[in-house]
Amino acid sequence: MDRDINAAKSQVTRRIFRDTSMTLPLLGFGLMRLPQKEGKIDYAAAEVMVEQAMQAGCNYFDTAYMYHGGESEKFAGKVLRKYPRNSYYLTSKMAVWMANDADHVERIFQEQLQRCQTDYFDFYLLHSVNETIWKKSVDFHTLDFLKKMKAEGKIRKLGFSFHDTPEFLRMVVESYPWDFAQIQLNYLDWENYRSREQYEILTEAGIPVLIMEPLRGGALASLSPVANEILTKAAPDSSIASWALRYAASLPNVLCVLSGMSQAEQMQDNINTFSPLKPLSAQERQTLDEALTAHKQYLAVPCTSCRYCMPCPAGVKIPEIFGIYNQYKVMKSRSSFQNNYNALPEESRASSCVNCGKCAKHCPQKIAIPDMLRKIAEEVK
Ligand code: SF4
Ligand code: SF4
Repeated sequence: MDRDINAAKSQVTRRIFRDTSMTLPLLGFGLMRLPQKEGKIDYAAAEVMVEQAMQAGCNYFDTAYMYHGGESEKFAGKVLRKYPRNSYYLTSKMAVWMANDADHVERIFQEQLQRCQTDYFDFYLLHSVNETIWKKSVDFHTLDFLKKMKAEGKIRKLGFSFHDTPEFLRMVVESYPWDFAQIQLNYLDWENYRSREQYEILTEAGIPVLIMEPLRGGALASLSPVANEILTKAAPDSSIASWALRYAASLPNVLCVLSGMSQAEQMQDNINTFSPLKPLSAQERQTLDEALTAHKQYLAVPCTSCRYCMPCPAGVKIPEIFGIYNQYKVMKSRSSFQNNYNALPEESRASSCVNCGKCAKHCPQKIAIPDMLRKIAEEVK
């Protein structure tokens, strides 16, 4: 029997999970970009954010086997332990690409339960499904194993996160009666990344949708100066990020919008945006379209900072380089680009890439990473 968690105390808007008494907060806390100190999760700062989320009724926590190199799941286990297990939803994911065989898949799952100090996951996903990962999942009988875990109560709701074409999505949707699915969706990707088609396929199939990358790895938290000005003029008291979050959450089949928050201020701003959610009006959509048209001229690399390409065996800091480069293309400041780029250790710069191609295989955005690094290395010269 599905039960509701914390609904009475929630400030943030909640949505009902299918025909059940279960509700989810429309804002979920993605634990992939937690605050860090000296290269490690800053427990004190991150714990304050969990407290802040729980107090607002924002009680959906999304981690994964590979987030923060495995430390995110451990963080979730240690920090959430102080709350009653039935007062929050905990989600993790099966990274099939990190498994060597079917037994390894089972060992990873057991390790995840241990790391998270729990007997079950409320939501669990086959992580980052694309054609290659799906094939590996079939070879390793992963779905059969996850169905077994669901039957044993170790998984309550089973879904998948997705990074491939709408055509391939149809096949995945028809393979199993999924409880939910997670897709990349934001106003930039709605047409570019074919998110609209993905959302429509899932909605037609009656599958609730969770949203990842609503801010495209933070890139939609601040746009180009002209686009920022359009949005700020229309709503002086609203952050730029709030437009993107409201865009995703205004879709009726969206159950939860995940945000990988790194600072308490971001979380407070996001909580305010969802307390309660005000869907975008027709006028606001028009304003957003204008801002997007202005912003598109500046886009360089469609990197979301997801870090799936890392670690690079040669030590190249791929997401950091793309972040610095994108900022340069938006702000047009050559000197700050040079300063930021030169602040990276020499072995982490684009010129250290040995073109092994390992990173590009894992990039959900299908960025030709080595080519792009070569271009940036040339431009720095
Ligand atoms: S192609 Fe270059 S950046 Fe990518 S993993 Fe290999 S060395 Fe690193
Ligand atoms: S290059 Fe691709 S895999 Fe790497 S952080 Fe960016 S989007 Fe993610």
